[in-house]
Amino acid sequence: MGIIDEERINKVLEDNNAPSNKEIKGILEKALKLKGLELDDAASLLNIDSSDKILMKELFYTAFKIKNAIYGNRLVIFAPLYVSNHCSNDCLYCGFRRSNKEMERKILTEDEIKKEVEILEGKGHKRILMLMGEDFDKYSFDDFLEAISAAYSVKSKGEIRRINVEIPPLSVEEFKRLKEAKIGTFTMFQETYHKETYEKMHPSGRKRDYNWRLLAMDRAQEAGVDDVGIGALFGLYDYRFEVLALLMHAQHLDKKFGAGPHTISIPRLEPAQNAPAANNPPYPVSDEDFKKLVSVLRCAVPYTGMILSTRESPKMRQEVFKLGVSQISAGSKTNPGGYNEAKINPENEEQFALSDTRPSEVVIKDMMERGYVPSFCTACYRLGRTGKDFMDLAKPGLIQDFCQPNALLTLQEYLEDYANDDTKKIGMKLIEKEIEKIKNEVVKDKFFEKLERVKNGERDLYF
Ligand code: SAM
Ligand code: SF4
Repeated sequence: MGIIDEERINKVLEDNNAPSNKEIKGILEKALKLKGLELDDAASLLNIDSSDKILMKELFYTAFKIKNAIYGNRLVIFAPLYVSNHCSNDCLYCGFRRSNKEMERKILTEDEIKKEVEILEGKGHKRILMLMGEDFDKYSFDDFLEAISAAYSVKSKGEIRRINVEIPPLSVEEFKRLKEAKIGTFTMFQETYHKETYEKMHPSGRKRDYNWRLLAMDRAQEAGVDDVGIGALFGLYDYRFEVLALLMHAQHLDKKFGAGPHTISIPRLEPAQNAPAANNPPYPVSDEDFKKLVSVLRCAVPYTGMILSTRESPKMRQEVFKLGVSQISAGSKTNPGGYNEAKINPENEEQFALSDTRPSEVVIKDMMERGYVPSFCTACYRLGRTGKDFMDLAKPGLIQDFCQPNALLTLQEYLEDYANDDTKKIGMKLIEKEIEKIKNEVVKDKFFEKLERVKNGERDLYF
């Protein structure tokens, strides 16, 4: 049997298709113990009738409590950086697909990459996610490795401290080279775990091979890339199936490598140029179902970070921040070179349309006004707290001792270097309030000392 047992997923969904209120309450109580949930319990939660306002509210409240207990009100911020939109695949949902002849193709030169990074650094970003289409004839893996090194070399008004990547599946040898390039997380979405749908959505190109993609995370782990991020593109198939498949994938990685995925991403289909499946999704996911699936994932894998992009509107983003999201992108562009505002017609080069188009400084200020702490922390990866080492600290709750002070120190940096007076005032007040949450007295003493040093101009201090 492979990693994804479709028959079992269908059976579990069927067997738990009419959970009683009492059963749901029991499962939610179990979820609050922060040990995660098995497939049958997750299936029962997914089968809650989305129009049942009372049960949905209880589910949301449970997810909120879990999110708060583990992640507090912190949200890690990153920005995507597209380096090439050439693609030899033909994914029916993506604007970069080879059949889209209207797309203007672009590969960033080294200088253009550096310029984009400089712009992102100028906005205060410390983490980027580098992406590309899949056309190794036009843009090779070596080109991509050079792009990473070019991006890391830029030190302008700030510096990028962690580069995560979202690129096509690699061989073990290639993953080893990716690790040497000092990337943070390797992220890749299976898109849909449902094989028949997968084959329909990927009519040609290397991406047609379902298993090569599915086993990419195993190959990454074998090569020592131990922070991996999985995801599904919601709207291609039944969201309940995809969530259970994500859980199966996570359980497989946990069992085999001692650490589940570092993150799960939850992209929903957005309109894209000449992409029929994006403009008319086969299984559209309603807002209520989307909130439900975020909550179920939070209950089922409490220690796995959850990533939300600017595909969602500001309103929906606010709603799901509460329910379990721990990392967000801000001020994103999905066209290569998109941060350089001199662009003439960016729509003709972008992968899909975005719903949250606000600049990052607006997103950050808005978050703080709503009581969330934007975090620019990159400490774990730089101290080698990755893979199993990270999970061993996260599961007993020890990582909390680092996350809160690190979030506040990096926020203080942001306020000193990038914020206007108004934003700075809001941020300083927030930091003052949030200091109370540092419970470990030794850490707290050291935190105050580090905070003073940041205020006096030192940078990159962390626990
Ligand atoms: N090209 C590589 C690949 O497909 O593995 C790298 C990732 S691609 C640049 C980024 C992701 O965008 C895809 O994996 C897919 O899930 C997502 N995506 C593509 N079209 C989309 C759309 N119309 N709406 C939302 N997300 C989309
Ligand atoms: Fe190419 Fe990735 Fe878009 Fe598919 S999703 S067409 S592989 S860029």
